Amino acid sequence: MLYAECLSVSADNHLMIGSHDAVALAKEYGTPLYVLDEDQMRRNCREYRQTLADCYAGESMALFASKALCTLHTARVAAEEGLGADAVSGGEVYTLLKAGFPMEKVFFHGNCKTPEEIALAMDAGVGFFVVDNREELDRVNAIAGEKGVVQKILFRVKPGVDCHTHEYIKTGQIDSKFGVALETGEALEIHRRAAGLPNVRVEGVHCHIGSQIFEIEPFCEAIHRMMALMAELRDSLGMRTRILNLGGGFGIRYDAKDDPPLLADYIRRVADTVKSEAERLALPLPCLMFEPGRAIVGNAGVTLYTVGSVKTIPGIRTYVAVDGGMADNPRYILYGAKHPALIADRAGDAPEGSVTIAGKCCESGDLIAEDVPLPRAKAGDILAVLVTGAYHYSMASNYNRLPRPAMVALRGNEKKVIVRRETYDDLISHDVP
Ligand SMILES: *Cc1c(COP(=O)(O)O)cnc(C)c1O
Repeated sequence: MLYAECLSVSADNHLMIGSHDAVALAKEYGTPLYVLDEDQMRRNCREYRQTLADCYAGESMALFASKALCTLHTARVAAEEGLGADAVSGGEVYTLLKAGFPMEKVFFHGNCKTPEEIALAMDAGVGFFVVDNREELDRVNAIAGEKGVVQKILFRVKPGVDCHTHEYIKTGQIDSKFGVALETGEALEIHRRAAGLPNVRVEGVHCHIGSQIFEIEPFCEAIHRMMALMAELRDSLGMRTRILNLGGGFGIRYDAKDDPPLLADYIRRVADTVKSEAERLALPLPCLMFEPGRAIVGNAGVTLYTVGSVKTIPGIRTYVAVDGGMADNPRYILYGAKHPALIADRAGDAPEGSVTIAGKCCESGDLIAEDVPLPRAKAGDILAVLVTGAYHYSMASNYNRLPRPAMVALRGNEKKVIVRRETYDDLISHDVP
């Protein structure tokens, strides 16, 4: 099982990504190389949209969380597939704008938006601001006033739901830097304040409880609490909220042991919970939104490297060193994240033991993966790390002055460089001589 429909092994034992030979791609474009199977990304977009439409009777929309993979090309793909988008910075808003994205379908997040970012997003016609805190609310109201517009907003609410995922990607609990808390009354208070401001209009509520979540229960719990808030806003402030945006966080498979729920099961449970809560609270069915990032691009990405050396430390471990590392994949050093890997030249061979894949950066912690079962590797092999579409390129850095890799998108028999490889001149281009 190769983690995504787009992956297979050819008759000559090479890894295939869609209809493209991974070894040939590495030869043609050089390594490290990010490969995006655009057909897989499109299938993931359609599955989200279709499942929502099939399972939920009310209006719904899936928004692509740009931060997972933000490029002009991926923004256009998401738009073509009918998704909205979320953006968390001026840079992401700018990318969507330049991609020709329908800006009225953009939700602008972030816990510390600057006045410049707020103005940029309003000028770009961003549909919705997801407001994080009181100072920001006042700032958005003031800037909207100067521009003579009424900005549609939602508040980022911490529903107080815990989920089992890495500490760094949990965001629904009270001790989080994001949003306003439900249980302290902070959420109700900020809505009351917004109701008295002339240049903002509250359109709904938003929460995002974390990322890479495999359980459905925390989402259902969040729905109970968020819809209770919608009812409270109606009852105590006379405020009608139309949108229930539940954020992203749907988990995907990175490891043979990972067992995420089927998307259809997850959406169905969520849709049923929303429906029964709406009936119980006498609320109209809200417009239901999700913001998947990882689930849209994660399994559509593969990173190709060239093996530089293989170092066996007897009785301890074998290091397979590759020509990239934490600069193009910081997920191991950040979260201890797991990724499957294989040798693209001998993709179907049985493993001959487990190895540690090391990067080339000057940090002992610069690993790509530990305890990966692999056939015997040798210098010159093409090593493929799978499920790298989300939070790789978008988190990449130039640490050790490594140029960021190119990204090539595959669609049917076509292939296209969508991000060109950085050059050494790119690296010094901002240094003042
Ligand atoms: C990160 C994030 C997402 C996307 O999360 P995934 O786990 O990639 O689905 C969606 N919404 C918000 C507000 C986020 O911060």
